[in-house]
Amino acid sequence: MAGEPQDDCLFCKIVAGRIPATVVRETDTTLAFRDINPQAPTHVLVIPKAHHRDAAALAAADPALTADVLRETEAVAAEENLDSYRTVFNTGSGAGQTVFHVHAHVLGGRGLQWPPG
Ligand code: 5GP
Repeated sequence: MAGEPQDDCLFCKIVAGRIPATVVRETDTTLAFRDINPQAPTHVLVIPKAHHRDAAALAAADPALTADVLRETEAVAAEENLDSYRTVFNTGSGAGQTVFHVHAHVLGGRGLQWPPG
């Protein structure tokens, strides 16, 4: 069911504390932690604690939680002192999504090229 923890979901396991992560921010509804394979000096993932497979599913199911996630991306950028940064939601395997628990990548601390690959 939408929002319920999934036994086979890596990020649900991080939310539950069953897999360690370097947490940088936590709210009642969200968790922000450093990516295990950083692509920039700052590379933080912001997730809703509730399980939704991608950004489209999250936005459809829970607009308020979608706003919480976006607000937290900005809070992470502020805490990391990023003047410029990129927020990315990969949606679908063709776009590079590998973990199907929605997450915003917050990338910064170096120059970022456009368009992305
Ligand atoms: P996606 O490719 O789905 O957009 O992003 C998934 C991200 O999760 C990748 O950047 C990957 O490095 C990160 N990741 C995968 N496994 C782990 C893990 O166990 N811990 C953390 N902190 N990040 C992970």
